[in-house]
Amino acid sequence: MDSLDAIFKPKSVAIVGASRDPKAIGHQCLQNLIKSGYQGKIYPVNPKADEVAGLKCYHSIMEVPDEVDIALIVVPAKYVPAVTEECGKKGVKGLVIIASGFSEVGREDLEREVVEIARKYGMRILGPNVVGIMNNPLKMNASFAPYLPYPGKAALISQSGALLIAMDARTWIDKVGISHMISIGNMADLNFGDLIEYFNGDEDTKVISLYIEGVKDGRKFLNSAKNSKKPIVALKAGVSKRGAAAAASHTGSLAGSTKIYEAAFKQGHIVQAENLNALFDETMALALQPPMRGDNLLIITNGGGVGVLATDAAEKYGVPIKDAPDDLKLLMFRHMPEFGNPKNPVDLTGMADREQYEGSIRDALKHEWVHGLVVLYCETSFTDPQNIAEGIYKAYKDSGVNKPIAVSFVGGERSVKAGQWLIEHGIPYYSSPHAAVRAMSALRIYGRYLEKASKEFVPYKVNKKKVEAILGKARACGKSVLTEPEAKEVFAAYGLPVPKGKLAKNEDDAVKIARSIGYPVVMKIVSPQIIHKSDAGGVKVNIKSDDEARKAFREIMENAERYDPHAEIMGVYVQEMAPWGTETIIGSVNDPQFGPTVMFGLGGIFVEILKDVTFRIAPFSKDEALDMVKEIRGYGILKGARGEKPRDIEAIADAVSRLSQLVWDFRNEIKEVDANPVIVYEKGLSVVDARIILKTEKVTKVTPKPLDKCG
Ligand code: ADP
Ligand code: MG
Repeated sequence: MDSLDAIFKPKSVAIVGASRDPKAIGHQCLQNLIKSGYQGKIYPVNPKADEVAGLKCYHSIMEVPDEVDIALIVVPAKYVPAVTEECGKKGVKGLVIIASGFSEVGREDLEREVVEIARKYGMRILGPNVVGIMNNPLKMNASFAPYLPYPGKAALISQSGALLIAMDARTWIDKVGISHMISIGNMADLNFGDLIEYFNGDEDTKVISLYIEGVKDGRKFLNSAKNSKKPIVALKAGVSKRGAAAAASHTGSLAGSTKIYEAAFKQGHIVQAENLNALFDETMALALQPPMRGDNLLIITNGGGVGVLATDAAEKYGVPIKDAPDDLKLLMFRHMPEFGNPKNPVDLTGMADREQYEGSIRDALKHEWVHGLVVLYCETSFTDPQNIAEGIYKAYKDSGVNKPIAVSFVGGERSVKAGQWLIEHGIPYYSSPHAAVRAMSALRIYGRYLEKASKEFVPYKVNKKKVEAILGKARACGKSVLTEPEAKEVFAAYGLPVPKGKLAKNEDDAVKIARSIGYPVVMKIVSPQIIHKSDAGGVKVNIKSDDEARKAFREIMENAERYDPHAEIMGVYVQEMAPWGTETIIGSVNDPQFGPTVMFGLGGIFVEILKDVTFRIAPFSKDEALDMVKEIRGYGILKGARGEKPRDIEAIADAVSRLSQLVWDFRNEIKEVDANPVIVYEKGLSVVDARIILKTEKVTKVTPKPLDKCG
């Protein structure tokens, strides 16, 4: 994307609002740009000044005698539209709008106005409400953060300005190397998706690191992440349960933005950082080291304690320590005293010096079993941390392998210094074993993403026309919820198995249908107003005879009448009784940023109390759905626990993927879906309850038809 080069690698920068007041942000931006060593042209613009910070100042951007790649806009919000217009006329390529006072304070209108003006001239906008941009290779600090970050290969993009300034300073402490640091602000124009795309093409960047509060255009974000050739690590802040209270479906109440973001990160192959420290630690590892291409993690240590801490962390972060093979143990044994431990963690003992570290690391890395290595060192009285560090580096170099290594030194100043020396030599160092293992786990997560076969979604052959007809009729009738029979017809049209059934208008009907299906049957109330049928006494199961069917019909009608005297009753749905099996739930919500999503979990208390569910953004393949099934905590139950036979996991994945196609195809019509329960067997499954809630915005425009035609 060439056009963004003008913004992120500008040859000339104008600062509109270059104040003479040293305390003003406009002035600071100008000073920072000069101080940082930027070699491009700098044009201060200020109608009241002829000179600022020793540079000639222009009264308007129009007066600048040269081409301007970007303009930093540091004037009060109300003047930004006029300045944008001028910049457009001048032919400025991009704007970095530092000014605040836009959508973040409810002035969406002003923000839109500015974007529209910029579009007219083909200008792209970063912001508004940003700190600015920093480009280390160009030595360009076009921001009001006081100095450039520690140089390196990570593009760090932050939605929080204050945090960006703080992280900038912190990079020098942790030695996390940064190529570009970008404050993304309100994302009126350029958003995370655009920047992921751009930094994929930037030769100075090896890893993309994100601090996210909320994305705009979730689909674009997801697609650019999916297509990224570079690792992405993201910290998502904010765990609001947006819309949960208002949601009409069970799935809706479980959605919350956290689960949806987790889904997007998995599908976008983004490593999710658990907190700010992790974001830094993992950014460093991903920038300096190759991905871990297998699950075998070896730990080498000189102290049992840190070995145990690392082992605990390894289990927590999904790279549990396994026993090393015998030949590797024999190799390790050569680098330790009699009382050492060659198992994993390899304990070289407190007697270990540089020689033991160097030898064991070299042998371990060369051994094919080892996919990743974490080296731990406790400072001792007789060893010099710097000497150990140099040994580690030499062994790593000598081994010549493309496997990741991470190091933790626990100790004092000398250890920290030695660790920083390691970082300068391309080996990630951390002060705690926990952090070193967590960083290695990020390399493993990224490695797994790379190993995942392409799981592109291939649409199933379905009866879309049928669904169009059902939804069309519902819309014409002004309905916001499909009845169970309608919802099941929709499911069946997309190949999800539902029990046989038919609507009965009276007792005789009920008996006739029950006989044709064959006893036992289940009977349920059908009414658009009664969404939770059991609560209304509207569900009778295990009906075994004509008499029972008649009785059930009467009781269901009476119960419904009592529950809601105003409810319109369509009749009683008589259906095949599905045999006992494992209850699961499949559902969907339409997320404001990511669009239709699909949820899967076990039913009953698992969903009610444990909220053991997982989401994906629709549509997605059966393979992706299989991952969903495997990642819920209750997966063991489906695999067959306590002598139970395993359940048909393939059938679940098929149904979940088909539902993802349904909600994607009808994303403009369907708001939420609940299939609860879906009963799963050794072979196959049955969707015994189905609920589809429609988007109502569309319905309001239609005059509802009389009810009899709508039944
Ligand atoms: P609601 O969720 O609206 O109360 P459901 O249709 O889910 O109503 O029915 C309530 C319960 O009855 C289900 O959770 C399930 O245990 C049982 N059930 C419903 N339909 C069937 C069926 N066709 N076969 C077997 N059990 C069923
Ligand atoms: Mg139900």
